[in-house]
Amino acid sequence: MEVVRQPVGSPEEFRARQLRARDMLRGDLEGDELEQYVQERVITTTLEHAFDWARGNSMFPLTFGLACCAIEMMSIVGARLDIARFGFEAFRASPRQADLLILSGRVSIKMAPVVRRIYDQMLEPKYAIAMGACSSSMGVFNNYAIVPADKFMPVDVHVPGCPPRPEALMHGIITLRSMVQDDPSLGWRRRYGGVGTEEVVPAAGAPETPGA
Ligand code: SF4
Repeated sequence: MEVVRQPVGSPEEFRARQLRARDMLRGDLEGDELEQYVQERVITTTLEHAFDWARGNSMFPLTFGLACCAIEMMSIVGARLDIARFGFEAFRASPRQADLLILSGRVSIKMAPVVRRIYDQMLEPKYAIAMGACSSSMGVFNNYAIVPADKFMPVDVHVPGCPPRPEALMHGIITLRSMVQDDPSLGWRRRYGGVGTEEVVPAAGAPETPGA
């Protein structure tokens, strides 16, 4: 379910709508007019859809940064990207008030248990975004000290890049929002006609990986 903002229209049109609302409240609208009035203003859905819609538009990320990627992450609350548009701007200082962990940087083996503990302390249902090459795949480093996040906790969305631009993180956040609202994206292959170009062909009946 997507809420779309539309221009109010001319002042006369706005006034006409006000008058119709007044008539409806007075009980002056009847028959087809009343039917049309209700159809234009009422939507029905299931309670689960309403919950998912609200949940996907009101996440509280944890105030948490690991390395250089965190600088890019901080900028998403600024005026340029303004993540408040999606209800994600209230970064919380305690994991007990947060339901989204953005892993913005390198995770060392020494740090992994700390990150896992923070994740365990967060509210259910909770989500995680691995931001950048380091937390997704150990990044550009070839040493024993870095560990990808998937090795020690569940990750919902990976955002590639070193560092990913804030716009890329926004895309990851919107992807996560779609997943939470039970409307996962088709993945770039289906959107751009690239089905059949996979290096590893999924087994028959295997679930499709989002973003593939
Ligand atoms: S992906 Fe690049 S920018 Fe992000 S933490 Fe690793 S080295 Fe830094």
